[in-house]
Amino acid sequence: FKPYPRLVIPSLTHKTHTVNNIFVYCEIEDGKVADVSLELLTKGRSLATQLGCKLEALAIGFKLDGIEKELFPYGVDVVHIADDKRLAPFTTLPHCAIIVGVFEQEKPQIAIFGATSVGRDLGPRVSSALHSGLTADCTSLEIGSHTDNKTNTVYENLLYQIRPAFGGNIIATIINPDHRPQMATVREGVMKKEIFSTSHKGEVKKIDVAKLVKSEDFIVRIIERHIEERKIDLKGAPIIIGGGYGVGSADNFKLLFELAEVLGGEVGASRAAVDAGYVEHARQVGQTGITVRPKLYIACGISGQIQHTAGMDQSAMIISINNDPNAPINQIADYCIIGDVSEVIPRMIKFYKKN
Ligand code: FAD
Repeated sequence: FKPYPRLVIPSLTHKTHTVNNIFVYCEIEDGKVADVSLELLTKGRSLATQLGCKLEALAIGFKLDGIEKELFPYGVDVVHIADDKRLAPFTTLPHCAIIVGVFEQEKPQIAIFGATSVGRDLGPRVSSALHSGLTADCTSLEIGSHTDNKTNTVYENLLYQIRPAFGGNIIATIINPDHRPQMATVREGVMKKEIFSTSHKGEVKKIDVAKLVKSEDFIVRIIERHIEERKIDLKGAPIIIGGGYGVGSADNFKLLFELAEVLGGEVGASRAAVDAGYVEHARQVGQTGITVRPKLYIACGISGQIQHTAGMDQSAMIISINNDPNAPINQIADYCIIGDVSEVIPRMIKFYKKN
């Protein structure tokens, strides 16, 4: 498996700030910290250790008593809490004002948001207010250096903001040598959520909401909320049977659903299968779909284009079923079954039903 080609794009720079810690904006869902934020904290902890700085979390909402207990095990050193009845459910302007206020005071060197609808809403607004720039939809974050050959300046300890670019044909590493904070939104599910230490304890700082948010920021009033039940849980599935264009029809996909049921998994799909109308878009895995990392991913009739593999190549084990021995998916698969999906899958169903 060849490493992706890399393109380094330096962004324009204007001024340099004094820099401090790493901040993660924590999304709160039904009083709990969202999984994506815990994934970012796990990454943030490892970056903070590498840089020798603190990891700080920002929790904004209502009834957040004890929220720090959820965050400290992820290696958080400081939790900033803004707790106010008017801050939940989420509305953009007050959350944005709080984040900008805290960042102006604390001057983080790195600030990370989930690439969720909330993070995609807040990230650009905050970066615009702070004139800092933002890399959206990152799939990886690393620490590295950059040499500016024109000025012969070496920038150490930069945040490499890594994401697919040009339709997923290259993986770009984007840097921001001078502006702070270095800001990124990161796709859900691309980073692992891992407890740092159950005994880790940090500090709690209460945010003075009235000082940072103007009354006119509370302009949006939520009158009613409709919560759509998500029946398809690709992210939580330990086994995913991914179906591609090679499956051939919506009818043939029924075999994949049967295998998924036998194995206790879910059915995912490539974009070509979704575009062909074989299954709904909610099942699309990949660059413009969902990122998954199940214990087992069985890719059936999927060629393995980078836009698809970007969403599943972190699976613990990959099995491909393809009638083309040269299909690119075979380069990342742990086991390859060369054959027709309509013959192989019924045999698998039969075998696993028996066992
Ligand atoms: P194909 O490439 O057509 O491959 C079908 C495979 O099935 C082949 O390898 C063939 O050998 C095999 N096959 C055929 N018949 C059989 C059979 N009977 N038994 C066994 N094997 C068989 N794609 C995604 O999946 N997810 C994304 O999020 C995504 N985002 C994109 C974003 C952009 C900006 C762009 C430009 C593209 C994106 N794509 C995405 C599309 C991607 O480039 C590919 O077109 C797509 O992944 C191909 O899907 P596929 O492998 O199912 O189909």
